[in-house]
Amino acid sequence: MNCGRCGTPLEKPGDYCLTCDTANTDAVVVEFGSDRATLTMLEETEIRGETTVATIPETDTDLGSVHLRNFAGRVADEVRRKRPETVYAAGVREPLRETRAQLHHEFYRVPDDDAVEWVIDRQGERALDVIKTPPREKLGGTHSTLIGGREGRRAISTVAEYPHVKKIIPGPIDAGGTGSQSGLRAKVTRADENGNVRLLLRDGSSVQENRLVTTAMDRQTGERVRDELNEALTDAELRETWTQQDSSSSQLLERDRNQSRRPWRRITGSVTGY
Ligand SMILES: [Zn+2]
Repeated sequence: MNCGRCGTPLEKPGDYCLTCDTANTDAVVVEFGSDRATLTMLEETEIRGETTVATIPETDTDLGSVHLRNFAGRVADEVRRKRPETVYAAGVREPLRETRAQLHHEFYRVPDDDAVEWVIDRQGERALDVIKTPPREKLGGTHSTLIGGREGRRAISTVAEYPHVKKIIPGPIDAGGTGSQSGLRAKVTRADENGNVRLLLRDGSSVQENRLVTTAMDRQTGERVRDELNEALTDAELRETWTQQDSSSSQLLERDRNQSRRPWRRITGSVTGY
């Protein structure tokens, strides 16, 4: 593959061109498996190339975390040489998290099923506009109090980082619940017909329902935003599914669709090329 601007041959598809100082990839979609990651390079809606980073299974070592870091490091190296604007990632959580920690790119988790298609749809249709407002300026409304202290603010900033969230309007606090678990928990509820969602925060017996105005225009695209935000809350270790006995309103009874997670198998091999 050659550079789209100056024609210089590129070592790998989608590489940044050092000759004319131009990116050939807008976005990289990384799909993590337990022993391999597939990177798909996109320029707008076109697939420019695909690369796989794999590990070699080894059984006689106990270096899982080292191998995890090495695996993630190889993926991160592949991303860096493209210099994309945005990285989208799906799949197995541990290498995804480790890769995110090693990169300084705009990085979003996307739904696991057909992740590349999901990103292409969005790149193409622009069904979901993005908002450039800094996260801290998205908080509005009259109830500015948030439950959960620092953890509550962390939940709010986790969703505020997302460019599909326009505005966060904190709601009234209901302290009449019967929750027994300690620690702040958060989840995003089903989208309404305008594509907006609610962020439920629970801290002990207190529950707060905060409105999130999104860039989605209908329920279907709102559900995509919801999936994305719930993944982010899971990654931030803030998310939990409410159960019937510790709910204080009917909306908390809703079951999540995304409870099942792919089991993570520890990486027990060294990282190889592709
Ligand atoms: Zn070039």
